[in-house]
Formats: sequence, structure tokens, C-alpha cells
Amino acid sequence: ALEVHGVHKWYGAHRVLDGVDLTVRPGEVTVILGPSGSGKSTLLRVINHLEKPEIGYVSVNDELIGVRRQGDRLKELSERAILTQRSRIGFVFQNFNLFPHLTVLDNVAAAPVATGKLGKAQAQDLARELLGRVGLADRTGAYPRQLSGGQQQRVAIARALALRPGVILFDEPTSALDPELVGEVLAVIKDLATSGTTLVIVTHEIGFAREIADRVVFIDGGRIVEQGPPSEVLDRPRHERTRDFLSKVL
Ligand code: ATP
Ligand code: MG
Repeated sequence: ALEVHGVHKWYGAHRVLDGVDLTVRPGEVTVILGPSGSGKSTLLRVINHLEKPEIGYVSVNDELIGVRRQGDRLKELSERAILTQRSRIGFVFQNFNLFPHLTVLDNVAAAPVATGKLGKAQAQDLARELLGRVGLADRTGAYPRQLSGGQQQRVAIARALALRPGVILFDEPTSALDPELVGEVLAVIKDLATSGTTLVIVTHEIGFAREIADRVVFIDGGRIVEQGPPSEVLDRPRHERTRDFLSKVL
């Protein structure tokens, strides 16, 4: 399981995360909703240790990310330990972030080679398999600039899968896409969801959230306002702020 324990993150006087607790069980799909600036991306970045919380910590399968518990105290982890733990968490960004100078195949094969998990030939076999899974078996030799946004995002998803992470985080994976390309990316994410991959997805695609989420988490002002199954949070929200937000995005 992925667990976020009492995380506070601030920049100067600005409290961006204000005591967030979250548990994501294996195989569960969690969708995070909230207004712009509510702290959604920061939460994903803290989970992946791209940002360090001022208070609190994150664990994956009971291993702490970024800190080590000593009695009641938390100690910094070594860079190496952080990298190992980060390799257990896939991250798919809004803007794909592919390596422009590498082919599609090498974009996907790079991380397992760099982390010493696989040799080059094995990594390329795995990359071919994963690119087939996202519908890009015929584009392995292309460069990112030769692909549509939807294709690039599918490569990014294959790249995240290549390290066989315990959980994959998505930060608004379709918001940079032309509308006609959104569906192909959502279809790939849905395939992961139904095959039991643990996913945490920040998205404004409410219909998609209703379809695939086991749990919807609504964040506002750096706090979880409410969470529960889509049938509760989306259809019968208990809080005024959730109702207000949904009335604007639906
Ligand atoms: P959006 O829906 O627009 O992507 P978000 O919910 O992802 O919003 P965050 O990106 O997490 O919001 O940002 C939350 C708040 O933290 C914002 O007010 C933002 O300006 C602030 N913030 C984020 N990163 C930094 C930083 N490095 N330095 C200072 N302030 C920051
Ligand atoms: Mg964001």
C-alpha cells in the first residue's frame, strides 16, 4: 500500500499541503480532484520525493520514502535509497517529458538499463512488449517529435511501466491533449486500472473518474475535504466546496 502520513508542505508562509493523510491499497484506483492551486501536483511530487514535506512522510509497502524512522524520530535517507524507492513509483506528467533525442523504444528501455535492472537487449524486449500494450508496436523507431500528443503520452505510460512500479502517479495526463486524442490515452489508463495496477490520477475528467475510480479524493486548500467511492463524492457530495467545484467542472 501507498501511505501518506500527516504531510505538511509550505513555501514561506504559504501552506500548500496542510495535513494530508491518504492510503492507497494495492490494485486500487484513486482519483484526486480539486481546484487549481489546491495542492494536487504538490501532493504527487511529495509522494515521488520530488518535493520534501516539512512534516510527515510517505511509505510504499511499509518502506518510508525520503526519511527513516528511528524511534519516534525521522531521519533523512541517502540519495541512493531515495532513488531506489522512487523507482517503485511511476510518474506520468501532463507534458509527457520524453527524452527528445531518444527513439520511442529507447525512451521506454532507458530506465531499466540505467538502474541496472535489465541488460540492453532484455530492456528492449520489454519495451517492445509494453509499446504493444499501449498500441504503438509500429512506432518503436520514431522520435517523440514525430508523434502526436496522444501517442507521446502513451509512450510515457509505457516508460512508467518499464520499471514495474508498485504504483503509477498521473498528473493531469490528458489536459495538454487536443480533445480528439484524449480518448486513446484514457483507454490505456483504463486498461491498466482493470488489470489491477495501483493508480493515483489527478484529472478533471469527471466521467472517466466515475468509470474507473475506486475512490475519489477531493482536495481544497491543501486539505482532503472528502473522499469515498464515486457514487458518494461525485453523486452525493457532502461538502459545499465539493458541490461548488463539481458544478463548475461538470
Ligand atoms: P493545478 O490544478 O493548477 O495544477 P494544483 O492543485 O496542482 O493546481 P499545485 O501545483 O500543487 O496546485 O500548487 C499549489 C500551490 O502551491 C499553488 O498556490 C502554487 O502557486 C504553490 N506552489 C507550488 N510549487 C511552488 C514552489 N516551488 N514555490 C512556491 N509556491 C509553489
Ligand atoms: Mg497541478
